[in-house]
Amino acid sequence: MSTWGEDAACRGEDPEIFFPSGKTAHPTFELQRAKAICATCGVIEQCRRFAHATDQRIGVWGGLGEDERRLQRLRAARVRRAREGYVANTLRA
Ligand code: SF4
Repeated sequence: MSTWGEDAACRGEDPEIFFPSGKTAHPTFELQRAKAICATCGVIEQCRRFAHATDQRIGVWGGLGEDERRLQRLRAARVRRAREGYVANTLRA
């Protein structure tokens, strides 16, 4: 992890909270616990960018769960395709 990890609010926390297996608590409960910790984190934006840049698919990163990050990836891909289509159409015109 890069240097921003040293300021992470999750340092020293049980990894099970951020990568719940369902063995210690219900995953939804762990998800809420992780998000509560992320909400206090001073490097939440760096963490979120890192998760997207390195395509982290598992666990909570930057206050976002797996489904939320997947939605953001889908939205970003849709925007990218729309931009590419716009540029292609503009060049053809
Ligand atoms: S945003 Fe959450 S997962 Fe990321 S470093 Fe901070 S506490 Fe950890």
